[in-house]
Amino acid sequence: MQKKYIEKETLCTYCGVGCDIVGTVRNNKIIKIYSKKDGFISQGKLCIKGKYGFDFVHSKNRVSTPLISKSFVKKNIWIEEEFGDSLKDFNENFYKTSLETATSITAKKLSEITEKYSPKSFCAIGGARTNCESSYLFQKFCRETIGSPHIDNCARVCHAPSLRGMRETIGEGASTNPYNDIYKADFLLIIGSNILEAHPIIANRVVDVAMKGRAVAVVDVRPTKLLKFAKYNCLIPFETNLLILNSMAYVIINEELYDEKFVKSRVKNFENFKKSILNDQYSNPNFFKNVKGYEYLAEMIPEIAREYANKKSIILWGLGVTEHIDGSYAVMAITHLALLTGNIGKVGAGLIPLRGQNNVQGACDMGCLPYYAPDYRNPKEIGMMTPDLVNEMISGKIKALYNIGEDIAHIHPNQNKISKALKNLDFLGWFQGSLFYWNQEIWPKKADFILGGLKVPGFMKGGVYINA
Ligand code: SF4
Repeated sequence: MQKKYIEKETLCTYCGVGCDIVGTVRNNKIIKIYSKKDGFISQGKLCIKGKYGFDFVHSKNRVSTPLISKSFVKKNIWIEEEFGDSLKDFNENFYKTSLETATSITAKKLSEITEKYSPKSFCAIGGARTNCESSYLFQKFCRETIGSPHIDNCARVCHAPSLRGMRETIGEGASTNPYNDIYKADFLLIIGSNILEAHPIIANRVVDVAMKGRAVAVVDVRPTKLLKFAKYNCLIPFETNLLILNSMAYVIINEELYDEKFVKSRVKNFENFKKSILNDQYSNPNFFKNVKGYEYLAEMIPEIAREYANKKSIILWGLGVTEHIDGSYAVMAITHLALLTGNIGKVGAGLIPLRGQNNVQGACDMGCLPYYAPDYRNPKEIGMMTPDLVNEMISGKIKALYNIGEDIAHIHPNQNKISKALKNLDFLGWFQGSLFYWNQEIWPKKADFILGGLKVPGFMKGGVYINA
């Protein structure tokens, strides 16, 4: 008998864990999401987001056809003349149209803006849920087709310090170990992450390890649910991540717990580092003896440092480390601990940044960053970062924004400012779902492709807004 449904294997669209999921689809509608028992990442389990959070796919409110704002058409009278027949009334604010018309109008308007002002009046901001192929083409479109260096993505905002801190110290901004190495570690240090809520499927592994009696240290400014499984409940004052991490380095150096052989053969500038840590009065954990309410840290930090140094250990961290003014330095302090103790480059010992969206690594690897071309090569020119771009939208230097998959109006602080900046643009294109289209007629002499939104592999519908 013929099956009345199909099953599609794909990845969860939410967090950076990347759980492998299977969608059961009947009549082009998802009726169930589940994980295979032998799922490599999910291990047969999904969190509530992955398992039940798919209503949005079939929401009537989703954009399923390109939309062009009526005010934009009014300001650009050529649209009515050239494409009037393709514009159909959608609601009081928008016309709907075909993808071909939307992309043609986009291409023509971008040509007009970049010729009138300069290619650098254009910027592109991508989301870290965009797949690698689209991210690569998106940055290429910005840099090569348009000729603007201003490309950025939301992963730079949240975990850029992990990229920078790791690249500057160990040369690569990515997790050093697969998640299953958590089972092979003897000690886990989790800092700045409410892992049970934010990355539950990784938390399952941490809890399993803790239940088997292996030591877990949780370092955070607030009590999280993981504390009940932890050997060390290390609550710290606000803005002290760097101080705590350097205090651990102090203990490891002062008590000569570092891996001398590893340091000699693999680490540069150890003597300078040693001197600066030992001479820093704040790095001595005794500093906390005089910090009211946190006196216990003077003893707990050395205990954690000893256990970390003497065992096969992994450090996991989240936005509680990176979204601080000293985020990059705190990540460097984390990698310094791994380098001091040789807890890197081995099975069950390493560094795992807990990333936010499902393709933060890929979007950055593909060069959606103002200071890195694909594969972290130097770009021809360094572009502006999103907060600077927002300022320049207000000042009038940036005239066009091409946005894929990032809810820029919501996720950045100071929404009044963002709203003012977006209103000041001559062109705002927002693309949901992400595929690129070749359009030979509009871009005959350039790289010849423009953006459009369409079906995301699997089962989702996307759309295009053109607005200004
Ligand atoms: S842990 Fe993350 S990737 Fe896994 S199911 Fe939950 S939201 Fe999806």
